[in-house]
Amino acid sequence: AHLDRIAAVDGDVHAFLHVNTDDALATAAEVDARRASGEELHPLAGVPIAVKDVVVTKGMPSTAGSKILEGWIPPYDATLVERLRGAGLPILGKTNMDEFAMGSSTEHSAYGNSHNPWDLDRIPGGSGGGSAAAVAAFEAPLAIGTDTGGSIRQPGAVTGTVGVKPTYGGVSRYGLIALASSLDQAGPVTRTVLDSALLHELIGGHDPRDSTSIPEPLPPLVAAARQGALGDLSGLRVGVVTQLQGEGYQPGVLARFHESLELLTKAGAEVVEVSCPSFDYALAAYYLILPAEASSNLAKFDGMRFGLRVEPTEGPVTAERVMAATRGAGFGDEVKRRIILGTYALSAGYYDAYYGSAQKVRTLIQRDFAAAFTQADVLVSPTAPTTAFKLGEKLDDPLAMYLNDVATIPANLAGVPGMSVPNGLSDDGLPTGFQILAPAKADDRLYRVGAALE
Ligand code: GLN
Repeated sequence: AHLDRIAAVDGDVHAFLHVNTDDALATAAEVDARRASGEELHPLAGVPIAVKDVVVTKGMPSTAGSKILEGWIPPYDATLVERLRGAGLPILGKTNMDEFAMGSSTEHSAYGNSHNPWDLDRIPGGSGGGSAAAVAAFEAPLAIGTDTGGSIRQPGAVTGTVGVKPTYGGVSRYGLIALASSLDQAGPVTRTVLDSALLHELIGGHDPRDSTSIPEPLPPLVAAARQGALGDLSGLRVGVVTQLQGEGYQPGVLARFHESLELLTKAGAEVVEVSCPSFDYALAAYYLILPAEASSNLAKFDGMRFGLRVEPTEGPVTAERVMAATRGAGFGDEVKRRIILGTYALSAGYYDAYYGSAQKVRTLIQRDFAAAFTQADVLVSPTAPTTAFKLGEKLDDPLAMYLNDVATIPANLAGVPGMSVPNGLSDDGLPTGFQILAPAKADDRLYRVGAALE
């Protein structure tokens, strides 16, 4: 049914870069047979899933939205994909995204943008707009995203889906095509909070192949979602972050945010205001740290090892000139912009002023979180300052595009988990998201609060 739905609507939505028809049907048939024989299966066995194209899948294209990886077929599965396959989830295909996960709209994809199913003239968010659009358009009941600065949560907010960025180290990064290794985290994109909890428990937990993977079991997420769904939050302290509201936020987004706060109060939670003064510098620090790490991670795309190889049209064919020709042709403008920013920020003479200062700000943000979590059990804000904007509206203005991430970036800089849960429609009739943040390794709190709001 989902493959039929993809065939019917994906011409308009363009959520998928690759549809994995035969393999998905084979997995579904195999799960049916095992179930018929009375085998006890995972609760999500047979439930199809879409996977963001930055996650490597054995035998299936994995381009990360870039021309430079066109034609590359990975010889192995990411750990999270192994876990999906192991539990019997048919993989429907790979979803569209901004090139190497750089962007907030999918307009930086080398394969054309995706569309927001609520209004096809609008962006579905980014970088994981394809995963969110697939779930919102009923092309997939579940999807995998990755979130380095908001790429699961912001698409969730603007498409009316649930998106979770787990605690850093909570889901293995083995087999993710790295953007910024100290910030990247994979997580669920779904239609309900309970679905996210089931998926998060399946893909999460320790993996010896990722040196930053947390060597402890996850907290009980499904149980927390079920508890939250009962609607009793008494004893819970909810901190509204002063710096993540007000100026720059669309009035309709703020109105829905305040209604959600009232719902939390009615459920017995105590709402307090907390101040995180260093959050004002989060965006600036992020756009130094991310390009610095990305410039290093993307150095491996040299025309020798993966995908595209372009030889210079004239002059000698040296390794250096093949690299230059390949990277010149294979990378899009936003990727080049960030490589230039990153190498500049890391260069001798500027390192302390830019990269060093940004790392100090990162520490201050971590301290703000630590202090705020002594006053509140969870922190909340609108997920994104506005609803989905029009395709093309911010494409020529990188700063305006970057500003979409003001509310989501602090969590990545501190490694704490975050969830965006749909909280109604803004005055323009488009979905908005409510962001919940919890201390590291306390992802269960997201599910308790998210399920209570649903
Ligand atoms: N929009 C942010 C950026 O462009 C977030 C990216 C992400 O989370 N992958 O960097």
